[in-house]
Amino acid sequence: MTIQNFLNRFQDTLNTKEIIIGQDVIRGCVPTLKKYLGDGPWLVCVDENTWKVAGQTLSEAMNKDQIQYSRVDIPFFAQHEKFPMCDDKRIEWFEKCIEKSGAKAAIAIGSGTINDVVKFASFKHGLPMACIATAPSMNGFTSGIAAILSNGVKTTQPCLAPVVVIADLDILANAPQRMIQSGLGDLLSKPVSNSDWLLSARLNGTFHSAEAMEIIEAGSAMLNDVAAKLPKCDIEATRGLVGSLMLSGLAMSVAGSSSPASGGEHLISHYIDMTAHAFGQSYDFHGCQVGVGTLVTAYLYEKLWALDPAEIDIDACVKAVENWDTRADQLKERFGTLFSAVEKHAKPAHPTDAILKARLEKLVANWDAIKADVNTTLRTRKSIEDELLAANCPVRFKDIGIERKRSLEAITFSKDIRNRYTILHLAWELGHLETWAEEALEVMFE
Ligand SMILES: [Zn+2]
Repeated sequence: MTIQNFLNRFQDTLNTKEIIIGQDVIRGCVPTLKKYLGDGPWLVCVDENTWKVAGQTLSEAMNKDQIQYSRVDIPFFAQHEKFPMCDDKRIEWFEKCIEKSGAKAAIAIGSGTINDVVKFASFKHGLPMACIATAPSMNGFTSGIAAILSNGVKTTQPCLAPVVVIADLDILANAPQRMIQSGLGDLLSKPVSNSDWLLSARLNGTFHSAEAMEIIEAGSAMLNDVAAKLPKCDIEATRGLVGSLMLSGLAMSVAGSSSPASGGEHLISHYIDMTAHAFGQSYDFHGCQVGVGTLVTAYLYEKLWALDPAEIDIDACVKAVENWDTRADQLKERFGTLFSAVEKHAKPAHPTDAILKARLEKLVANWDAIKADVNTTLRTRKSIEDELLAANCPVRFKDIGIERKRSLEAITFSKDIRNRYTILHLAWELGHLETWAEEALEVMFE
């Protein structure tokens, strides 16, 4: 099924109406933009690079069609920022730009941060928006959520996806290699993020969407034979990567949450972003961090399924989990100034003895069925690593500039930053998270 087929089939749910993927498609895209955004004025958000690679061409096309627009450049706020993140301050900044400019629609020329900032602020102001993608670096182009660092915690908040997305393959195939690697890393989280999604549905009865899975699977098929061609800036391989990113975002929009594409591996990446922002530590592109996180959680799944369920001592596991007050003290120590923001997510996720006991009993009683179910989507760590390596993606924490202590913390602390059940939570409830994390670092990350 093509992307347009999915757009048609889910047109009542999806805000995105058109996705144009092709070579040299910016020059002629203004009539399509006008159809959905109106006649202007438009507010165009860029940075120096995205202006150079796509903004200038769009500006010529807008001038030709006599569209009134103003350009704003995404601001840097702190010295240690390698590239700006989507946070409260930048959203507030763009909202002010909307108010000052009197724009009737907005255009994001960029990928992750620029798209999320424009998407969320435009949504708050009821403005339609479009995105001109400049790098295939993440799957948020078509998602109805924005990843926002809010009060220091990485959150995903509902909004509306762009009504049109323009993806020019000449630009995207030649984007910085690190950003291409990031896009592939974000997508290759699928085997573990979908496993987490299924695991939670089976153990906790949380929502799971077969329709979203169908979209994700279609996107996954587009990645066949793509990884090794990406470093050569191959147009057809880029078309596969971009198509898969678009479908991954649509799946999140159809599911109404990031669950189809974001599990424990994303928490590891979010933890790195949060601590980078709060304490001035190092970070990398979202999908590069996600790729490394994916190998960790794939390892945790291998450890999980190697257990003998008959040997799981449920009463001992329940007894070992401290009450909330004790955990809160531990989290204060771990998160410091971020504690009060983290507490909002960690507290509702903290299980009572009864909930934990029931969950683990369910796991043990249905072990084979849950394992078979998860194994329909799970892949081995080795096969994911090979695919990442084929595209020169980072596969070790040291490749993304994270030293050992912080790597261990990312694996063992990150589950508390969001109330969504993942393999990190299960490993912790079984009393194995710390040991398995240490082992993961021994096996893969030294
Ligand atoms: Zn992601």
